Amino acid sequence: MRKKKVYQQTIKRTYRPEVTHCVDCGSRLQRTVTISARTVITLTEVIKVVHRGYRCPQSDCPGHQRLYRSSQADALALQGFTFGLDIVLFVGHQRLREHKTVDEIHTVLSQRLAQVQQTISRREMLFLFEAYTALLRAGTEVAQDEPWKEEARANHGLILSIDGIQPDNGNETIYLRRDVLTGRILNAENTTESTKERLQQILAPVVALELPVIGVISDAQPTELQAVAELWPHAPHQICQFHAIREAGRLIDNADHRVKTDMRIRMQEKTHAYRHNLHKRLREAEEREEHNEAEMAQLHILEEYAAMVEGALNVESKPPFQYGGLAMHEALSKIEAS
Ligand SMILES: [Zn+2]
Repeated sequence: MRKKKVYQQTIKRTYRPEVTHCVDCGSRLQRTVTISARTVITLTEVIKVVHRGYRCPQSDCPGHQRLYRSSQADALALQGFTFGLDIVLFVGHQRLREHKTVDEIHTVLSQRLAQVQQTISRREMLFLFEAYTALLRAGTEVAQDEPWKEEARANHGLILSIDGIQPDNGNETIYLRRDVLTGRILNAENTTESTKERLQQILAPVVALELPVIGVISDAQPTELQAVAELWPHAPHQICQFHAIREAGRLIDNADHRVKTDMRIRMQEKTHAYRHNLHKRLREAEEREEHNEAEMAQLHILEEYAAMVEGALNVESKPPFQYGGLAMHEALSKIEAS
């Protein structure tokens, strides 16, 4: 019997569509369904993925039936897979590009997965390798898949997502093109070049599907923006929120760090001196023959406050969503308010 895997250190994450407004009428999309709730094991973490689907709320809108998915959630793992797409790409890359043997790859992959308390059998890994080769054939299959094309037509076209992934942080990039509305992978291709011309070449099979492209989501490399603008000049292009947040997060984090350092410089020494002085007064009060209970109580309270201030000054940041400076300010404001 197969043992049920226990996932430790699981992070729960909810994914919503990157497109927030109806591409037909512009109404704000509303949550209608949970597309999936599943666990995905990646090279760096184990995620409990909750994928929410949204629709246009206007019942008379021509796009009312269209279900919007999160491109980021679909990018985590292929449909029906627990192991992430990053692992599929890693295995395929090691095998076909680096010409490693199955055993060599299994050893390296097992070591990587051990860092997130996971294991993979040799057979499971070979299954991922098959998925990789299927991925490279996806383009031909999509072109011949009439029922899928019907589905895409019912959506009035595709929302195209373009994701460039570097399996080894090397100079090779695998470009995945996906239809965000149906979640279908349209094509995957390896390249070492990301010029506008090369990207247009990579996008040619999508053009050949002869389906309207009603929107594009990408990670906003300048050459991607140019390639898309020339191929589909009327399709609105949205920058992937994940990449945008990561970039914005970096700026905020830098600013936060400056504020934090500044607050520390201004307050740390003073707080420290104040506490030192309090301790001295407390000792003196205790040594006095006649105890003044009220004074002692007051000194103890003051000491507690000062300790809290000192603690607040040492709050650390956890990017991208926990900012030490901000937390410090909030903590100090609470202390002040009390
Ligand atoms: Zn609408």
